[in-house]
Amino acid sequence: MITTKDIIMEDDPLIRQKSVPVEMPLSDEDRATVMAMYEHLVASQDPELSEKYGIRPGVGMAAIQIGIPKRMCAIYVPEFDEDGEMISCDQYALINPRIVSHSVKRSYLRNGEGCLSVPEDQAGIVPRYLKVTVTGYDALTDQDVRIVARNFLAICLQHELDHFEGILYYDHFDPEDPNRPIPDAKIID
Ligand SMILES: [Zn+2]
Repeated sequence: MITTKDIIMEDDPLIRQKSVPVEMPLSDEDRATVMAMYEHLVASQDPELSEKYGIRPGVGMAAIQIGIPKRMCAIYVPEFDEDGEMISCDQYALINPRIVSHSVKRSYLRNGEGCLSVPEDQAGIVPRYLKVTVTGYDALTDQDVRIVARNFLAICLQHELDHFEGILYYDHFDPEDPNRPIPDAKIID
């Protein structure tokens, strides 16, 4: 199980390293890695497990965050109704995902982004595309996927794919005013 001590932080030079494509067909080792990342995210959103293991809740993780410079990432974005029942869940263990198209329209998270490799949240606006289409191989379902993502999921995917390039979310802040609004962008809560 991946725990907090396995996650590298922003001050580790490795977090800036570019990741290389994963060799296909998927090896047992790479599959085990991406599945462990996925399971970490699921556990991180379970109140009991996250407390037991002392892990921060996360919706996405890229392999470089556990020191492996390969283009794979896990996503776990459940959606709940007012009664706390899960009504849907966007979940993937993606191998070599890439953005094949995106909207012109931008979006950003009202409360800013967070990252398991950034211990203290940095306040600022991170401009993203409102909609992205991502292709890749999903190890959860063992098939090639084409994900048309909007809103929060689209932001998560862009955040994780940035990690493949060694980019952290605050690199996108406006250097003069991190909170300068982006005209015409959709604000995501
Ligand atoms: Zn991150």
